[in-house]
Amino acid sequence: MLEVNHLQKVYGTGDTAFEALRDVDFSVAKGEFVCLVGPSGSGKTTLLKNMAGLMAPTTGSVVVDGRKVTGPPKGLALVFQEYGRSLFPWLRVDENVELPLKELRLSRTERRARVTEALEHVGLGANAHSYPWQMSGGMQQRAAIARAIAYRPKVLLMDEPFAAVDAQTRADLEDLVRRIWDELGITTLFVTHDIDEAVYLAERVVVLSSSPTFVQRELIVDLPRDRDQLTTRSDPRFAALRHDLYAEIQKAKVNTADARV
Ligand code: ADP
Ligand code: MG
Repeated sequence: MLEVNHLQKVYGTGDTAFEALRDVDFSVAKGEFVCLVGPSGSGKTTLLKNMAGLMAPTTGSVVVDGRKVTGPPKGLALVFQEYGRSLFPWLRVDENVELPLKELRLSRTERRARVTEALEHVGLGANAHSYPWQMSGGMQQRAAIARAIAYRPKVLLMDEPFAAVDAQTRADLEDLVRRIWDELGITTLFVTHDIDEAVYLAERVVVLSSSPTFVQRELIVDLPRDRDQLTTRSDPRFAALRHDLYAEIQKAKVNTADARV
């Protein structure tokens, strides 16, 4: 469903050229849930921007559902880290969720039905007419997730979406994302720098090196599909995977080759 082929991204030119991504190569199968982890500054956001067609790679390519990405691909939705900036403050929650649907050729009735369904899905059924600034951070991020799923994407990309919410809200949002993935079968690529979060959420974790970045390792998360915050996190297998991933990230951090081109 998602292929990243030898992607390289160099920012700038001449003396100030900086090679953020050197050779990133991996793929995500239809219906899979993959977490992408890597040290801060390893180019995770850069990679997602290239995948979402918001930025062109220097070399290499991204293929979404069989089509090479040259601009924002149809069927792909992106949830950003800064929920505060991703919703329009002058639109109500239902209007925010409806906005991207206007480019799909749907009747108004069908659009409204999808908005209602998506808001119900994330537990915001009663908040349809609120403005984003009237809601907590966790609720705003749920609204951003509702907007993404109302679009019924084949691929969902999420860039550290829960980095700015408190621990309890974060746990709830993690379970929400797992549930949505399970129920809707959306191919999901979730970026996080949180090791526990990556193991809790993913079926597979892709570990990036520091810049200039390559895929350092892929780790299969062989935990049961049904997960919950208490049982899963106290599973000895969870601890072993967490340990393994932690060691891998430490390795990634010390590997700091000069990224200057
Ligand atoms: P991450 O999301 O993993 O923290 P980023 O993709 O944001 O990493 O950044 C990767 C590297 O590329 C960083 O060193 C960052 O400073 C650099 N970078 C990001 N955006 C730009 C830009 N527009 N111009 C130049 N360098 C950039
Ligand atoms: Mg980032």
